[in-house]
Amino acid sequence: CNLCVRACREVQVNDVIGFSGRGSDTKIVFDFDDKLGVSTCVGCGECVQACPTGALMPKSILDENQNFKFKPDRKVDSICPYCGVGCQLTYNIKDDKIISVSGRPGPANKSRLCVKGRYGFDYISNPERLTKPLIRLKNSNKKNNFNKFDSSEILLNFREASWEEALKYTSDKLRELKNNHGSNSLAGFGSAKGSNEEAYLFQKLIRTAFKTNNVDHCTRLCHASSVAALLENIGSGAVTAPFSEAKNADVIWVIGANPTVNHPVAATFIKNAAKNGSKLFILDPRGQALDRYAQDTLNFIPGTDVSLLNGVIHTIIKEKLYNKKYVETQTIGFEELKKSTQNFSPENMEKICGIPANRIKNLAREYANSKSIIFWGMGISQHTHGTDNARCLISLALLTGNIGFPGTGLHPLRGQNNVQGASDAGLIPMFYPDYKSVEGEHGTIMSDFWHTELENKKGLTVVEIINSAYEGNLKGLYIMGENPAMSDPDQNHARKALANLEFLVVQDIFPTETSAFADVILPASAWPEKDGTVTNTDRKVQIGRKAVPLPGEAKQDWWIIKEIGVQMGLNWNYDSPKEIFNEMKDVMPSLTGITWDRLEKENCVTYPCKDEYSEGSELLFKDGFPTPNGKGKMTSTNILPPDETTNKEFPLILTTGRLLEHWHTGSMTRRSIVLDEIEPTPEVHISPSQLKNIGVNPGDIVNVKTRRGQIKLAVRVDKSLQNDVIFIPFCFKEAAANILTNSALDPYGKIPELKYCAAKIESFA
Ligand code: SF4
Repeated sequence: CNLCVRACREVQVNDVIGFSGRGSDTKIVFDFDDKLGVSTCVGCGECVQACPTGALMPKSILDENQNFKFKPDRKVDSICPYCGVGCQLTYNIKDDKIISVSGRPGPANKSRLCVKGRYGFDYISNPERLTKPLIRLKNSNKKNNFNKFDSSEILLNFREASWEEALKYTSDKLRELKNNHGSNSLAGFGSAKGSNEEAYLFQKLIRTAFKTNNVDHCTRLCHASSVAALLENIGSGAVTAPFSEAKNADVIWVIGANPTVNHPVAATFIKNAAKNGSKLFILDPRGQALDRYAQDTLNFIPGTDVSLLNGVIHTIIKEKLYNKKYVETQTIGFEELKKSTQNFSPENMEKICGIPANRIKNLAREYANSKSIIFWGMGISQHTHGTDNARCLISLALLTGNIGFPGTGLHPLRGQNNVQGASDAGLIPMFYPDYKSVEGEHGTIMSDFWHTELENKKGLTVVEIINSAYEGNLKGLYIMGENPAMSDPDQNHARKALANLEFLVVQDIFPTETSAFADVILPASAWPEKDGTVTNTDRKVQIGRKAVPLPGEAKQDWWIIKEIGVQMGLNWNYDSPKEIFNEMKDVMPSLTGITWDRLEKENCVTYPCKDEYSEGSELLFKDGFPTPNGKGKMTSTNILPPDETTNKEFPLILTTGRLLEHWHTGSMTRRSIVLDEIEPTPEVHISPSQLKNIGVNPGDIVNVKTRRGQIKLAVRVDKSLQNDVIFIPFCFKEAAANILTNSALDPYGKIPELKYCAAKIESFA
């Protein structure tokens, strides 16, 4: 019937399925990469969802003879637990088990899903799920099992405990540390994978029971520098336009992002727009799947973003391409920007970033003369100059008035499913909910609202908390749903810091690498086992619903946080996420017009939203900015080298990131059979020319070394890489990429330079 071909070609724009032959010989055929010996299919399953005949069906509902094994006995609507796109989906359930997933026509995904959302649901029934509270055995020494991360090995060091015992032990130890060493000897890492209500309650616990602002989460490893620049220059840390606005743009920039891998459904909207005539420009040191839809692909030298962007700014100012009226009425900082970029001609910048001056000029002209939108990712933010990178992008939008109007905007593609919502809810050390400074007058409002005295100094960020534990100042840490033993830079240092803690409590669904250093492990809820709201990269607040029961004695995360609070003396009696959400609304104007009941009916409301009867605003700042003077600011930037540069001993540039099939540290996706079968092996990606240079072949095992450590892994040839750049995904515990990475921080966003460090490869050949 051709629906699978159209789903693949027109909806997801993957162009994998087509026809061969004519008439009665017509056949459906799949694209195949002869060199790699695999299909180019990305496993999104759009064809399966579109198929009305049963010719294509998810394997999970079939038996070995390809007959129906399962038919769902109920369906529950929820949200994908992985990336910030926030795809709405339906869990198809049989006997309280999810047997398949279908995309729903949510505003962010229009029924589309990627391979993770559609097929990566089975992690929740993996036999390694934690089902009972665990307490570390008295004679076990966490410093001894530094690199032992198999679940069974981790669990050998623990005994089972009742909830009563585990909660009392946890709160007694935390209280003891606070009494003996002060509030700032404690800290908490919350989670961007949890709900808004969990994020809010967690930061409230740390602030009101621990009495410290030492609370943070993985935004510090992803977009903290983007948020710092956005707050500084336009007064709001969220996107100004949804990714679907690509359809109205004449020009689309994707810079420092690889959406087909990291935000696959958002990428489909970018591909749709490019096919419909929008001009797409890709600016990234690595090649990517979107390149084939691009007008120009600018593979600049890693770490030289500021020089490339200042070359564009210089051109726009020199050629008077900027929007004079907009600059005069809506912005400040133009003269300073003009002066600071006067020497940054494309000809001068070409020598630094490696992109020919004429292409920089063309990029500038196309951007300035059109309705243009910019999407960016961690290639922008994970640098010691990450905030400067984002400042340049903001200046470009302000110079040209490309903000607030259809087809324009600034969109940092947020990583985890709820990193936007967790930051909004105050899960960061410098802000209360809704980005109110902990150091300003708002402290009194929060103190009255929470009926307690509060610390009025900024707390430590993720990497600073780890450093403090390493130095022995931080004594106790409560980690909910994060995995710093895999995600933080310079793992040897981070793991020593975790082992150095006097008391570590880890709340999670699996025995993660971090829980190897825990004193107490609390079994928690996976996303399909809970009710809660999440906020996607577009500022869409969406509701997730409990689909299946919790395993064993595992508990809801909000319940665990509440019980620890109660045991530490807080007068808390929350009885549902809805009650927590209602409290958040009282202190978060951003949730105006969004009620739990409305979300239950409509599933999704975008903020800001005037009232309960209005639609939320998709495009922001047409008429001014939420800054003290209502204007956007253009902040000048300097061209600085990365913290660590290459030399004779370490001649290669290492960059890290994700794979399509694996999510962050792999704690969920590596426990999903389908996803781990597609990408089971840690590999270092190397360009064909470097492969020859080193004298290795694909599949050979090599040692990758940096100034901080080394890992052994197989070689994958990757044509998208520049000759001296190598890439390693950070999801494989058996070859943890972050053993190699540099923990040097951006001074504003406090984000580590995960996208650049000097490395070398040792071959065993
Ligand atoms: Fe889930 Fe993101 Fe994939 Fe959508 S694009 S299905 S939210 S991982």
